[in-house]
Amino acid sequence: MNSQSQGRGRSRSFSYKRSRNTKRGSGANGRPQAPRKKRGHGQYIDPKRFVKAAKPVEVTEYVSDNTFANFDLHDIIAQNLSANSYHKPTMIQDYALPHGLAGRDVVGIANTGTGKTAAFLIPILNQILHNPGTKALVLAPTRELALQIQEESRTFARSGRIKDALVIGGTPVHKQIKMLSQERDIYIGTPGRVKDMVERGYLDLNKVSLIALDEVDRMLDMGFVNDMRFILGKVRRERQSLFFSATMTNTVRDIIQSFTNDPKTLIATTAETSDNVDQSVVYVQNKSEKVDKLHDLLIGDGVEKTIVFCETKHFSSRLSRDLNERGFKTDVIHGNKTQSQRQRALTKFKQGHIDVIVATDVAARGIDIDGVSHVINFDQPHTYSDYTHRIGRTGRSGKIGYAITFVDGAPTS
Ligand code: AMP
Repeated sequence: MNSQSQGRGRSRSFSYKRSRNTKRGSGANGRPQAPRKKRGHGQYIDPKRFVKAAKPVEVTEYVSDNTFANFDLHDIIAQNLSANSYHKPTMIQDYALPHGLAGRDVVGIANTGTGKTAAFLIPILNQILHNPGTKALVLAPTRELALQIQEESRTFARSGRIKDALVIGGTPVHKQIKMLSQERDIYIGTPGRVKDMVERGYLDLNKVSLIALDEVDRMLDMGFVNDMRFILGKVRRERQSLFFSATMTNTVRDIIQSFTNDPKTLIATTAETSDNVDQSVVYVQNKSEKVDKLHDLLIGDGVEKTIVFCETKHFSSRLSRDLNERGFKTDVIHGNKTQSQRQRALTKFKQGHIDVIVATDVAARGIDIDGVSHVINFDQPHTYSDYTHRIGRTGRSGKIGYAITFVDGAPTS
């Protein structure tokens, strides 16, 4: 953490008084409210599962069979790749591009951060540039990932006059409707909003002949299975499908079998991301103590960029405010924030203007941010799979990361 943060002592203790407006039993208008539903607390996870020493994996540079020049790409893509220092394909690109470019259905099994975005975008953009009028749809589990894909697509297609449309929640519907009323070559979106636009008649998927699904396993984990089936059922039957997932579970296999045609399956997974993460727990007695312990951790040596995960949106905002008052440069992302607020916070974090992001699970999946040194689970995740997603934000690109989980009570032997 920067020198400003190093000097921060603990300034005040965290208070948990309920505000006057949230008094149980009466709403803001004074009328009685229905009793609040108790939140489910997910599965019990043995704290021992949150403790594991990092087993740094030696990153050996992948020697690709191909260069981008071997792929006979449209000149615009070839130039943009070179201008952006994409000289050699990564493993998943090396495996998947020959088949994707040949028009075949592809199933790519690859971790996040391995270059899979280019593995599906290059065949899509190549096809659109060579055959104007071709329309493509890319689905991603989160708005942030959809935005990252759009950025990358614009980089590869620069000066190619390809028109894209971002179809994601958290942005005004009327703007999206207006955007969709014009001809677009590539739609990039999240399943919920795409389905909504199709149902309302603003997006005709029958014209789409290329579809890519990124992070299929996460989309399924996040409960999008019905939306995905609906969308895939609307896309033209004669199409090319490019599906990417970090894992091949039975449900992923099921979706792939239903919606692809004799796909080429390519596996390019590297070592488990969590092998590079040093995992430990901190025992705490109550919330006030938790905030003080968090403060101590944040001013510790080697703490650079930190994501703090909380269970609720309300508490995430509150904790972020409290950390700001304590002198930390913090922002918050959760489902109630507008897309532009979420994006602004992420950009500040990426560019180093803030060094702590407080987040709920929904906001933090699939985000690719360089140099996250620590993930702190202020509240325990609901499932072990959520835990794995959270800690996967650190320990990337061959660096060691740290995951610290707060556990209520005292250690048991
Ligand atoms: P992804 O897994 O698609 O999110 O990619 C992870 C990061 O690697 C992104 O910042 C990409 O821009 C970068 N990247 C992907 N492929 C290549 C490549 N062949 N050469 C250089 N950088 C790449």
